[in-house]
Amino acid sequence: MADYKAPLREMNFLLHEVFAAEKLWAELPGLAGAVDRETADAILEEMAKLAANTLDPINRTGDEEGCQWNDGVVTTPKGFKEAYATFCEGGWGGLLGNPEYGGMGMPKMLGAQVEEMINASNISFALYPVLTNGACLAIDAHASDALKEKYLPKMYEGTWAGAMGLTEPHAGTDLGIIRTKAEPRGDGSFSISGSKIFITGGDQDLSENIIHLVLAKLPDAPKGPRGISLFLVPKYKVNEDNSIGEHNDVNCGSIEHKMGIKASATCAMNFDGAQGWLVGEENKGLAAMFTMMNYERLGVGIQGLGASDRSYQNAVEYARDRIQSRSPAGAKQPEKAADPIIVHPDVRRMLLTQKALVNGGRALSTYVAKWLDISKFGEGEEKKNAENMVALLTPVAKAFTTDMGLDCTILGQQVFGGHGYIREWGQEQLVRDVRITQIYEGTNGIQALDLVGRKTVATGGALFELFAADVQGFIDAQIDREEMAEFIQPLIAEMQRLREATENMVAATQQDPHAPGAASVEYLHLFGYVAYAFMWAKIVSAALPKAEADSFYSGQIKTARFYFARLLPRTQALAGSVNAGSASLMDLEEELF
Ligand SMILES: Cc1cc2nc3c(=O)[nH]c(=O)nc-3n(C[C@H](O)[C@H](O)[C@H](O)COP(=O)(O)OP(=O)(O)OC[C@H]3O[C@@H](n4cnc5c(N)ncnc54)[C@H](O)[C@@H]3O)c2cc1C
Repeated sequence: MADYKAPLREMNFLLHEVFAAEKLWAELPGLAGAVDRETADAILEEMAKLAANTLDPINRTGDEEGCQWNDGVVTTPKGFKEAYATFCEGGWGGLLGNPEYGGMGMPKMLGAQVEEMINASNISFALYPVLTNGACLAIDAHASDALKEKYLPKMYEGTWAGAMGLTEPHAGTDLGIIRTKAEPRGDGSFSISGSKIFITGGDQDLSENIIHLVLAKLPDAPKGPRGISLFLVPKYKVNEDNSIGEHNDVNCGSIEHKMGIKASATCAMNFDGAQGWLVGEENKGLAAMFTMMNYERLGVGIQGLGASDRSYQNAVEYARDRIQSRSPAGAKQPEKAADPIIVHPDVRRMLLTQKALVNGGRALSTYVAKWLDISKFGEGEEKKNAENMVALLTPVAKAFTTDMGLDCTILGQQVFGGHGYIREWGQEQLVRDVRITQIYEGTNGIQALDLVGRKTVATGGALFELFAADVQGFIDAQIDREEMAEFIQPLIAEMQRLREATENMVAATQQDPHAPGAASVEYLHLFGYVAYAFMWAKIVSAALPKAEADSFYSGQIKTARFYFARLLPRTQALAGSVNAGSASLMDLEEELF
């Protein structure tokens, strides 16, 4: 397997030449002075080293050894403890955290690049800090000052990690039917009882404490999603002086044996009257969870992106090295017994598909992170607009990037032929590891329903219009640049196709309750391909002036041409499916399946 090399040039190009990050950071009222180019460069360079030297080397061994469960205690694979200690010493856990409680308060645009490197080098490892970050976001946004003061500094340090307890054996997508109970203890705390499954990092041996955020129902809570509350339940109770106290009644009953991310502990957790504290308001637990959901979902999209880039890097190196057959245009390396497989059009198709989807996905993640930053650090109308953009684009950034993530890792495996199927080269691990990203944090089917239902039909297409206005603003600014016409004209046509599909879907829903669910996944993919086209047009716009002087930029333009010629036409088929209605899906009687 090739050594992981963080794509710093690509990341810096996106941040500073495509999205003018430094200017935005200087202008955002809540961020002014917190970060400049020099700081950002140093952060990215440091993480590039950590990813390559510390996290990448334990990726395969972690997969082979996996996590172990013994008598209620989980052990992570060899090297994970040391790597986690190094990660925490570097202060990485608090990168985006609230400075009032010891976080560094960095923008998500920067955090997105850092996350990509962690995920590309080791998704299993990445999940431990990812879940801690999610728990910190929810605590910071909703918990009392006392809870924030007690827990956030240690969690940003990584000394205490976080876990998110939503799923139960009978309740995954439909959290409204959870059974975990919370009884008031009369001292301001609650007794939490119930079983949670699939809890990432529910137990591990990396941190001295684990802070569980748990969804549970209070006595007499309303039925369904409006009767769910959120509780903070530490594995070890914390004494007045912040030292670790007695073991709470929280135990890990077992860990799952699964397809991939084997070094990430996926735990069945039992809460037997464990002491917990309410986070946010009673019965508003799901809403509190949603605060951090946009960050988490973008983060899962970035897991798909990281695995794709890792697979691409391996595949390129292999395709340059592996010799088989001659180029159809005559021998390229006559001194060798055969040419490297990178000469073959079909191998180039696979590599370019990966490259186009990786760079497009990285651009979309950075673009959504930009809106997250404006929604967090901005003010007034600008902030409101950004919140709406985040709401619309998050399901696309999560589901499209992870669906493309599986496609990319499979292509990277295919480039290796039979050598991609065996373990030695690491390509099959990436396929197995990335697969979960389509399932957790809300399945991609549920993301698509969110996009068409809550974000599009329920708003009468208003959020779509915000995105359309941003694309149109770019088109208007570029329309007189002749050299941009080959990208701008198709972008105009594709936006029209997406608009028609959106309007058809909103209209069809008036007559047919199945219409949104029938169109949703293909609609999300249509949206994804058009959003990537917008990203590629932005990339070209930034690259064109420097293309003659530097092949990095001409490479961007050539990859954009491939994207527009070979991948974007998939929208025609997708629009056909979106517009097909629900009848052919719903007609077949259940017993005929
Ligand atoms: C490795 C791993 C780690 C995880 N980590 C965590 C964690 O840390 N914390 C946590 O709380 N959970 C975690 N989960 C749980 C994960 O989030 C759930 O598995 C996921 O949300 C889906 O729930 P489910 O498995 O019960 O599937 P179901 O909800 O039973 O869904 C089954 C299928 O039905 C579809 N479906 C369901 N409802 C609808 C609908 N209304 N319309 C259309 N289709 C529908 C789904 O899309 C899916 O395809 C993890 C899971 C795994 C495997």
